[in-house]
Amino acid sequence: MKITFLGTGAGLPSKDRNTQTTVLDLNPLSNEYWLFDAGEAAQHRILNTNIKLGKLTTIFITHLHGDHLFGLPGLLTSRSFQGGEGRPLKVIGPRGIKLYVETTLMLTGSHLNYPLEVLELNGGEVLTINKVSVNVQPLKHGISSLGYRLKFPPKEGRLKQQKLLTAGIEPGPIYKEFKTRPVVTYNGEEYITEDYKEHPEPGKVIAFFGDTMPVETERLLADHADVMIHESTYLDGDHELSHKYFHSHIDDVIQLAAECHVKMTLINHVSNRYTKDDIEALTHQLKNSHPEFNFQITEDYLSYEI
Ligand SMILES: [Zn+2]
Ligand SMILES: [Zn+2]
Repeated sequence: MKITFLGTGAGLPSKDRNTQTTVLDLNPLSNEYWLFDAGEAAQHRILNTNIKLGKLTTIFITHLHGDHLFGLPGLLTSRSFQGGEGRPLKVIGPRGIKLYVETTLMLTGSHLNYPLEVLELNGGEVLTINKVSVNVQPLKHGISSLGYRLKFPPKEGRLKQQKLLTAGIEPGPIYKEFKTRPVVTYNGEEYITEDYKEHPEPGKVIAFFGDTMPVETERLLADHADVMIHESTYLDGDHELSHKYFHSHIDDVIQLAAECHVKMTLINHVSNRYTKDDIEALTHQLKNSHPEFNFQITEDYLSYEI
């Protein structure tokens, strides 16, 4: 799978950073994309990638602030003309998202040529979308803000080729049966296929956060995540100020990652006040002061394989 950041800024767009937009490519699990937030110009950013809007099946909106949402209506309508015809799309977000989408489409006389389902959540729900478990938790941001913890299905263990050969089972279509069925009959003998496979690999966990200041529910999202995507609007400076504006300070993110045993933290929602040089210097400082913290401060068009 691949996570691509198409908007990593906070609040306002800048020449370098678009507002919040992140895409998850679900290959090889399935040939589709999921979008997390749709900042203004999300569709323009997508045009610069090989992502096809027709293959976009689910959009997760974290909260209704404009820097996470103003790109949604245009993207929805363009999808009709970019391979989306007849292909259902689901939009998931906090209360108010349905009114926003329906009102915008209605007032602008826009008609979609595909089924659109808009799902409003409070947090606390667990959904299953294409075998992926999605745990939704409320965050703390002044307005309703959600975080999404995606748990992917375990990866089937590989076949123990040598053991199969020793048992006289030669490569061929029968191997596919060993991969997919619990019991297989071959030359009149029954085989329990589990005995011929490595242990399955646990499914990956991705935790995607909306804007938030520290709150207990964050732990439910971050617990042992392989990748956590978290805002840090305040990469340095005044801790209290960040909480006054319902945002996170880098120290909060470091603490959360450590306490929840997060393997990799990708930091987004970066304030425009930090220049490229600032980010480089801050990254360097953080690597020195917190060598155990595995992180990257994201930038637009960065891709991360998981
Ligand atoms: Zn924001
Ligand atoms: Zn916000």
